[in-house]
Amino acid sequence: MSVRLSTDVLIIGSGAAGLTAALSLPQSMNILVLCKGDLGSGSTAWAQGGVAGVLDEVDSVDQHVADTLTAGAGLCDPKAVKYTIERSTQAIHWLIEQGVPFTHVDGSDVEFHLTREGGHSQRRVIHAADATGLAISETLIKKVRQAPNIQILENHVAIDLITTSKLADVEQENRCVGAYVLNTLSDEAVTIGSKYTLIGTGGASKVYLFTSNPDGATGDGIAMAWRAGCRVANMEFNQFHPTCLFHPKAKSFLISEAVRGEGGLLKLPNGERFVHNFDSRAELAPRDIVARAIDHEMKRLGADNLFLDISHKPPEFIKSHFPTIYKRCLGYGFDMTKEPIPIVPAAHYTCGGVRVDQHGATDIKGLYAAGESTYTGLHGANRLASNSLLECIVYAQAAAEQIAKSNQEQYDPMKLPLWDESRVSDSDEKVVITHNWDEIRRFMWDYVGIVRTDKRLERAKRRVQLLKQEIAEYYNNFKITADLLELRNLAVVAELIIESALSRKESRGLHYTRSYPNKSDKIEITVLTPKQN
Ligand SMILES: Cc1cc2nc3c(=O)[nH]c(=O)nc-3n(C[C@H](O)[C@H](O)[C@H](O)COP(=O)(O)OP(=O)(O)OC[C@H]3O[C@@H](n4cnc5c(N)ncnc54)[C@H](O)[C@@H]3O)c2cc1C
Repeated sequence: MSVRLSTDVLIIGSGAAGLTAALSLPQSMNILVLCKGDLGSGSTAWAQGGVAGVLDEVDSVDQHVADTLTAGAGLCDPKAVKYTIERSTQAIHWLIEQGVPFTHVDGSDVEFHLTREGGHSQRRVIHAADATGLAISETLIKKVRQAPNIQILENHVAIDLITTSKLADVEQENRCVGAYVLNTLSDEAVTIGSKYTLIGTGGASKVYLFTSNPDGATGDGIAMAWRAGCRVANMEFNQFHPTCLFHPKAKSFLISEAVRGEGGLLKLPNGERFVHNFDSRAELAPRDIVARAIDHEMKRLGADNLFLDISHKPPEFIKSHFPTIYKRCLGYGFDMTKEPIPIVPAAHYTCGGVRVDQHGATDIKGLYAAGESTYTGLHGANRLASNSLLECIVYAQAAAEQIAKSNQEQYDPMKLPLWDESRVSDSDEKVVITHNWDEIRRFMWDYVGIVRTDKRLERAKRRVQLLKQEIAEYYNNFKITADLLELRNLAVVAELIIESALSRKESRGLHYTRSYPNKSDKIEITVLTPKQN
């Protein structure tokens, strides 16, 4: 059975980006927020470190801009960087106003504690102990649940965007008029008509075998926007977090950068430090350098993991600064107050994505995007730690402001065709989905990971093309499921990453290829344009 709904604004995603947009839109607008699982199931709730912003007198917009540009390895859009960081203080105050319980300086009720992370020249990361994302997520969720104009649909997976060009409505300038969605509890397809649609679906790190991200980080919004006709940019820049807990039962538990910021040292299995051999900033070097140093040493030694050691600090300091990490590690049998923790790098953050302007507007009228699913120009070739939550807030607010000012008419929802299921049957070969999931993630890890070569990328390209065909056949013949939709999107995202990586004939920031180990003089972002444009 198929259902039809209509709303002023459809927000796909309930992370920091989606919920900020929902809460920043006028209360006179009807808003519908969709998410795959429950409201808190995106990466936002997993963020530990914090939100970067200019909050201290000794800091300045110029310094934060300079640090962001340095991390971005020459590829940031300076206008986007300035735009975002100029709004950082306001964005963080907005979070404080919503009630996010950020940590105060010991003994103060008013002054917030700021931490320092890799690549930052100042302490400028506001945090809620070591579970900042959870505090933000819970606070914003409480607010949206109270808002009478916001309707929430949990367990609803967006399948594809609906555009007038796809509907072949020649009387209309191409615009986004809604989305098809799968209710995963009832297996019903839902057709949602909207004046405006905002993608806040997060990143795509699940395309790699090891990731610090939750299961839903399958790049759905990037793939949907691409299929709808939007350009994507800088997809080759995937950040690998240097330190995830290495334990067979820990599903990619991240050991925050702040542990290194507060004095944690990276060590080889024999206890020697090594990162200073790669960069004079040692443990505080940007993530790409640290991740590559770890990858290099692991491959050189044939080691399964290396170690992060903060046990030289007083136990009370460790427990009060990192209560969540301390407890989780202890649960896996490691007491970080007494011993080094085993770590490996893992795919962590998608720097590229749907290309948007300063208002979060995509190439398609009526379609906006914010957060990790986007390319705004802020991160360039590498993201500076804790700039991503900031980007979510700033661009979600900008998109909300722009939507509030626009005056788009509702497309007649009755003109939207319902999802057609008449030609498809239940699958009798679900193994195709699980096999292809594993295959994509494995070859992306092996061939398109921290260190690349043209040969590896070509190998990955051949494989993804075959898989895409197989998945398309499956998609056309069998009933859709959430797994199939995610797999279809992962294959698109994998291909976008491979194509972008192949087109970059240099090593820069997060993209390191042995085929071109040096930086080129030509500074260009990678933009891919879908064929139909
Ligand atoms: C372990 C970890 C630690 C981090 N630490 C920090 C940090 O300290 N500071 C920082 O700035 N950043 C950090 N990050 C990055 C940051 O958390 C993310 O970039 C940010 O939260 C992304 O927010 P978002 O709103 O774009 O997406 P998310 O929070 O990932 O939310 C995505 C939403 O989209 C929904 N969704 C996805 N696809 C669909 C679909 N097809 N249909 C319907 N809904 C869909 C999901 O259900 C979810 O609700 C961290 C990330 C991780 C994983």
